[in-house]
Amino acid sequence: FNVLGIETSCDDTAVGIVNSDRKILSEAIHHQHEIHEPSGGIVPNLAMVNHQTYLPSVICEALNNAALDMAKDIDVVAVTRGPGLPGCLGIGLSAAKTLAAVLGKPLIGVHHMASHALTARLTQSPEILPFPFLTLLISGGHTLILVAHGIGHYTQLGTTIDDSIGDAFDKTARLLKLSWLKGRGGGAGAALEQCALKGDPEKYMVPIPMRKDARRKREMNYSFSGLKTSIKDLVEKYKLNLDDENVKNDLAATFQHAATIHLIDKLELAFEWCRNKGISLTALVASGGVASNKSIRSTLKRLANEQHNIPLICPPPHLCTDNGIMIAWAGVERFRAGLIDEYTIDHIPKWSIANKCKYFYKY
Ligand code: ATP
Ligand code: FE
Repeated sequence: FNVLGIETSCDDTAVGIVNSDRKILSEAIHHQHEIHEPSGGIVPNLAMVNHQTYLPSVICEALNNAALDMAKDIDVVAVTRGPGLPGCLGIGLSAAKTLAAVLGKPLIGVHHMASHALTARLTQSPEILPFPFLTLLISGGHTLILVAHGIGHYTQLGTTIDDSIGDAFDKTARLLKLSWLKGRGGGAGAALEQCALKGDPEKYMVPIPMRKDARRKREMNYSFSGLKTSIKDLVEKYKLNLDDENVKNDLAATFQHAATIHLIDKLELAFEWCRNKGISLTALVASGGVASNKSIRSTLKRLANEQHNIPLICPPPHLCTDNGIMIAWAGVERFRAGLIDEYTIDHIPKWSIANKCKYFYKY
């Protein structure tokens, strides 16, 4: 069966079509990078208006690219139900509900972060990645460590207590006055990665977050706002010249290096937690926009392969950032599990991914 997925939770208007044999049939996306760049962050109203303007043509483009007919060839409509910006979610959800209801197709509302996690089961080849796996979701709005036990069954081990890692990348990029990279895989985080590549991560010292006291050390939560401030303090303390490319590159590398160590610190605790619970992990999955960062990927790969003897599964970069394919694929997974929604469902802008299975899920 074929699933059409619609994503409008944030600043990308995206539509993807996937079949139940894990084949990507089509995708179309309208980015809003250029629109939001002047304000340095997403402006919710602008994002909503743009979804409103472009969603119909993005849906048509996805269908036309693969010469598919909505009524004849699409069997299920999937859509992001939350979490995300309320006005933006509403645009996608209304479109999906209307299409599904009018054409009599099953409707499936999906959790945006669960879709980021499940994408790995679409792209992993040749075998589908089995549960349970440890998942690191690092994106613009979230920094989560989850154990994925099954469809709709996640234990949340850690989250951020302040900024998300993506937000910290974006704010640090702004502090360093970097221009956003344009187009697909673009944005502020990608611009910072480019600079970090040319910089020396050990030129400056910044403290690694959550290492100070014993309790914090044992916590699986993240904190990224201090790291961004540490970079700002360095600039002020040493009166660094941000017009100097080398200075920018070294600061970008310092930030990225410290952020990566912080990620690993807490993942180590998560691996230990799983071991203590007797959970035999099949893989470490990393997804979300920040997981398209090559340096972070290679560090995670070393951790998974060398320390824990499991593979690291990362979707390709364009499927790590927001896209319609991941929503369509989550639709495939949920449809197979018989999880169909009513045409009356509403969006859920704040929606936790954790559920009551907590620590006692039976495999
Ligand atoms: P969420 O999924 O939490 O709702 P989102 O969908 O806005 O948030 P994504 O599209 O998954 O987030 O990711 C966007 C974030 O990823 C941005 O903060 C962006 O700067 C960051 N990002 C993208 N590419 C890179 C990269 N190469 N290195 C670091 N960060 C990156
Ligand atoms: Fe996302």
